[in-house]
Amino acid sequence: MTELDILERLVSFSSVVGQPNANIVQWIVDYARSHGAEVTTALGPEGDRSNLFMTIGPRHVPGVILSGHMDVVPAGETDWVSDPFRVRADGENLYGRGTSDMKGFLACALAALPVFAKMPLKRPIHLAFSYDEEAGCKGVPHLIKLIPTLCALPDMCIVGEPSGLRAIRAHKGKAAARITVRGRSGHSSRPDQGLNAIHAMSEILSSAVNAAKALTHGPFDNNFEPPYSSLQVGKISGGQAVNIIPDLCIADIEARAISGVSPANLIEPLRRASDALQVHGFETTFEMLSEYPALSLPDDAPLAALMQELTGIEPLAAVSYGTEAGLYQAAGIDSIICGPGDIARAHKANEFITRNELAACRSMLENLGARLSA
Ligand SMILES: [Zn+2]
Repeated sequence: MTELDILERLVSFSSVVGQPNANIVQWIVDYARSHGAEVTTALGPEGDRSNLFMTIGPRHVPGVILSGHMDVVPAGETDWVSDPFRVRADGENLYGRGTSDMKGFLACALAALPVFAKMPLKRPIHLAFSYDEEAGCKGVPHLIKLIPTLCALPDMCIVGEPSGLRAIRAHKGKAAARITVRGRSGHSSRPDQGLNAIHAMSEILSSAVNAAKALTHGPFDNNFEPPYSSLQVGKISGGQAVNIIPDLCIADIEARAISGVSPANLIEPLRRASDALQVHGFETTFEMLSEYPALSLPDDAPLAALMQELTGIEPLAAVSYGTEAGLYQAAGIDSIICGPGDIARAHKANEFITRNELAACRSMLENLGARLSA
């Protein structure tokens, strides 16, 4: 099968984030096994969705991971001109949900698999496909934990997020948390008898606004735009009517951290601010929704040099979006981002990838296989 045929199949599985993914997993497992890969399906704690790990070549030697996620964001945008879960070809462009982010890369890696299988690989190539990346890299940590039991620890990982096939050495880390404040309801004419959860939440919001302002003063890493860590309250809800004391207020907060800063630490002051409300009779909970660390691969790392050779262009220092690469790096596996397509087309109606982009990615991967066979 060509990468185009495979992309058509992958897009036809509407593997939307947060949903069971057995259909797409089973298709990939059957395909990979039929081409001689050793395949491990790793069921996540949710019980209805799995990560996949596939190996070609000598597994007891450190090798290279090709990493991607099988989930896509929902396709609810109203301006799709065709079925988002059916690839529509229009000249050079192939439209469909996930074509760029990132089933195009998965298709290239799977199309290269039979070619890898015929190569005298001295080091293995692993395909690591995850679930629920779009929910804040929720699936892949379960897979990363398992990898040391499946093979010699790989020493390199290429995360195929859409980067125009130029390698990228760094991205920010991210943490997201939900704070819930519960007070006591009542008639607004008797505030002395209630506990206003929205008023209480405002203390946490002030802390968040102050923390966000303080972050603009550094520390700085000029590879990023903006060059500092950031924090925002992205969603808030609470209250029923103007004359009812609100007994519930919920806020979702995220932090994005430059390399060397822990994103969870940026949110920590808000946890303390929410705990502090308890002495006033409020019940509060602080729930970490997701978290992944920043990626930072030194410019003299062997993986950076390898990618420069394979792509013919010097790796870019940093991007602002996050990926699974930070988690692989934190597990001791040098990681870099490099995949076909454009992140600017992702998470939008009429997402597409071009035939040329797919062909270029597939040939880059086959060149990688040749390098690992030499
Ligand atoms: Zn992605």
